[in-house]
Amino acid sequence: MILDKTTEIDIQKVTESKISQIDFSNLAFGNVFTDHMLECDYKDGKWQTIKIRPYGPITLDPSAKVFHYGQAIFEGMKAYKDDIDQIWMFRPDENQKRLNKSAVRLEMPEFPESLFFDGLETLLNIEKDWIQKEEGSSLYIRPFVIATEAGVSANPAKEYKFMILCSPAQSYYSGEVRVLFADTYSRSASGGVGFAKCAGNYAGQFYPTKLANEAGYQQVVWTDASTHENLEEAGTMNVFFRIGDKIITAPTSDRILDGVTRKSVLTLAEDLGIEAEVRNISVYEIEEAAKNGTLQEMFGAGTAAVINPILGFHFRGNDYELPKLESTYADLFKDKITSIQTKKAEDKFGWTYKVRTL
Ligand SMILES: *Cc1c(COP(=O)(O)O)cnc(C)c1O
Repeated sequence: MILDKTTEIDIQKVTESKISQIDFSNLAFGNVFTDHMLECDYKDGKWQTIKIRPYGPITLDPSAKVFHYGQAIFEGMKAYKDDIDQIWMFRPDENQKRLNKSAVRLEMPEFPESLFFDGLETLLNIEKDWIQKEEGSSLYIRPFVIATEAGVSANPAKEYKFMILCSPAQSYYSGEVRVLFADTYSRSASGGVGFAKCAGNYAGQFYPTKLANEAGYQQVVWTDASTHENLEEAGTMNVFFRIGDKIITAPTSDRILDGVTRKSVLTLAEDLGIEAEVRNISVYEIEEAAKNGTLQEMFGAGTAAVINPILGFHFRGNDYELPKLESTYADLFKDKITSIQTKKAEDKFGWTYKVRTL
């Protein structure tokens, strides 16, 4: 991925940054955005000039197809600063490729790699002061694409908007998480859009997740739609189970999002000599392991939280609590991944990407 920046970018900067008004030690995830945003429109069969302009509202026709038929996809990634103020990203090529996989499935135009990186890196250079160096700090980056063409006829739009927003983030603590194993609702089905990072996958989870919240569980772990007997993913994170000293996660499929964090955990496990299995995981196997005490840990893996420990689960009327361990794989993987991301540890896998100074 060696690119020469050739892309023409139309830049309009703010007259005054709002950064001095931001309390970086007290940020809620995804609520504060930087001074600028990037946008690029697709029209007449091609992507137009990229624009970077002050962050603010956009105007769309109320019949824009995104509002009616849900052609909307996104990505989530992070940028970090090292000790000498160099900006780094973590496996951004994976996000760029995945955005285009989602685009194909939603019958949206792919966004070219060179535009993606030239635009993103230009934006990061402009927003570099927003990337803090404190432990756990990063800049969360949200690329997305929406169908902007006006008209409510039910067919794919001919006009789109690609955008990138940036939001400063602190280390993410989601509180104590206990989960419900889904046995009524489903997130995705074979042949569907579960593997795509599309907006609708989230909308469909909110109601069952609210019911789970009301019952005292913070998240749902989704099971296969046909039998509800195989554990698949957590809907914003992939999920791992530790039985004895071995970790297990479900294979990716058209129902499961192929997470970058999941992939990185599997590679690290191999490197650390931790046995890892990628296979179907029956709810009964996990229930049995919880009963006989071999289920040691469960954790979610995703960009926002990196690794999110799960303390217990509910399945068909029964609650199970996981042991409280002195040292956990969850902490180990989180530490390894964040050390690589922030350039505090050697990156022998070539995962970090040095953002060009543009
Ligand atoms: C984004 C996402 C994940 C996590 O993927 P990462 O690449 O690790 O951030 C997992 N599941 C779903 C449904 C997601 O949208």
